[in-house]
Amino acid sequence: MAHIDMRQFICRSDNFGLLIHDHVSGATAAIDAPDANAIESELRKFGRQLTHIFVTHHHADHVEGILQLKELFGCKVIGPKAEAGKIPGLDIAMGGGEKFTWAKRQVEVWDCPGHTAGHIAFHIPDELSVFAGDTLFSVGCGRVIEGTMEQMWQSVNQFKKLPAHTYLYCGHEYTMANCRFALTLDPDNWRLQARMNEVEKLRAEDKMTCPVTMGDEFKTNPYLRLDDLAIRNTLGMAEATDLQVFTEIRTRKNNFK
Ligand code: ZN
Ligand code: FE
Repeated sequence: MAHIDMRQFICRSDNFGLLIHDHVSGATAAIDAPDANAIESELRKFGRQLTHIFVTHHHADHVEGILQLKELFGCKVIGPKAEAGKIPGLDIAMGGGEKFTWAKRQVEVWDCPGHTAGHIAFHIPDELSVFAGDTLFSVGCGRVIEGTMEQMWQSVNQFKKLPAHTYLYCGHEYTMANCRFALTLDPDNWRLQARMNEVEKLRAEDKMTCPVTMGDEFKTNPYLRLDDLAIRNTLGMAEATDLQVFTEIRTRKNNFK
């Protein structure tokens, strides 16, 4: 739809702040609340009132600003049912498969356990946008902290069903480090090389590398390319299952410097 406006900015050190504004209803939603002051000043710049916060998971760098923003704006907080006790100021708890309407658009909620046990993602098909929090990053995925590798693999897999022209919005500006690591697995992938060049240029100019289309991710993100023979050969895992390949890649990333 033509009436939406997305404002993304970096806050804390590498978190993305993100505001979605609907010109028709005047509704404005923040995706997570990493930093109340940064979000407030972005709202003030455009004379907007915050009406909603969509929370992906309970980590401090995603929830710390909630109570201050609620006090300032009286906004409604929508977040993960399975982490309800850990989300300050939560008003509406949602789980995977549930849908709600925001500014006349349908918002789908996906369960994405792995990074945290109750992590959720939000998908707005009408806006060709998915908000992945710390589950899927550009050219990477989140660290598996509370869940199992199998859960994270399944969580990441859900993104494969999205149309290629869907925009991926994620929780952190980690793309440069992710590209550097992905190139160790997939060195001859020219699209990944091109993404690395683009990302280096953007970061040198202090610009953000997201959002990115899922179509680009399908061609560059190793966690979405587990069946790729070049990657499997680099790992010496031509015959392994997708879950084994996922686990190996995610484990290598943990130890990558
Ligand atoms: Zn997190
Ligand atoms: Fe985070």
